[in-house]
Amino acid sequence: MVNQNKDSRITLLGAGPGDPDLLTIKGVKALQTADVVLYDALTNEALLEHAPAEAIKVYVGKRSGEHSYPQETINKLMIDYALNYGHVVRLKGGDPFVFGRGYEELDYAASYSIPVSVIPGISSSIGVPALQQIPVTHRGMSESFWVITGTTTSGEVSNDIYLAAESNATVVILMGLKKLSKIVEIFKAAGKHNLPTAVVQNGSAENEKLVVGVVETIEGLVEQQDVKAPALLIFGEVVSLHPSFKNLLREYATTS
Ligand code: SAH
Repeated sequence: MVNQNKDSRITLLGAGPGDPDLLTIKGVKALQTADVVLYDALTNEALLEHAPAEAIKVYVGKRSGEHSYPQETINKLMIDYALNYGHVVRLKGGDPFVFGRGYEELDYAASYSIPVSVIPGISSSIGVPALQQIPVTHRGMSESFWVITGTTTSGEVSNDIYLAAESNATVVILMGLKKLSKIVEIFKAAGKHNLPTAVVQNGSAENEKLVVGVVETIEGLVEQQDVKAPALLIFGEVVSLHPSFKNLLREYATTS
């Protein structure tokens, strides 16, 4: 039923990397006042419990490679629901502005003069390494970090990966699992064969998996462990701080 008495508004809400307890308190409050929740594939459905029972909950899942809900359709749904029902919470994985197309949605809503607020979320790019106790920066080891997409709109690896591979930064790559071979090649070309590398599947969620190695070995390990998307790649000396990297070195020392 159309409720014309409600003020239309949209909240772009970052859900965090997966564990429902990693949502912000402000996020919980937004969900509690939602009339409609539009949620993505990478958000935990347990979060919907914060929304009123009578709120409309719509799955607009998108995973890389799937195009079941084109962005245009999501944009339109968001507007329709806001105009007809009031407060739309657009729940997005991680942080809405880190490869989340959040700004496109903000812009679209603005073109209808619907007020939008943004509630940041813990991005997987920082949160998932942190949960593994891998710091993206560490004094004396890493002075900066890059967060890069492995797959650009044209389907190619980002040119930034070439630049990042030359730097001393920690390099976190999202949506890069399918491009791992190419990415490994880029790091090798930069002479980084032995750079510590980790791949985390489904960080903070039930089917979490971690693989730790170096540039040279990571592809084989990922295959061996059957790592699947969503996963992120971490390249950098900081990966050596992970306990399993120390074990790896110990094993290496005893076998060679
Ligand atoms: N806005 C999101 C990123 C969206 S892009 C954020 O800030 O986290 C989607 C990509 O993020 C996935 O393909 C994967 O590379 C990464 N990703 C998201 N959640 C993840 C998780 N829990 N574990 C590992 N990688 C994750």
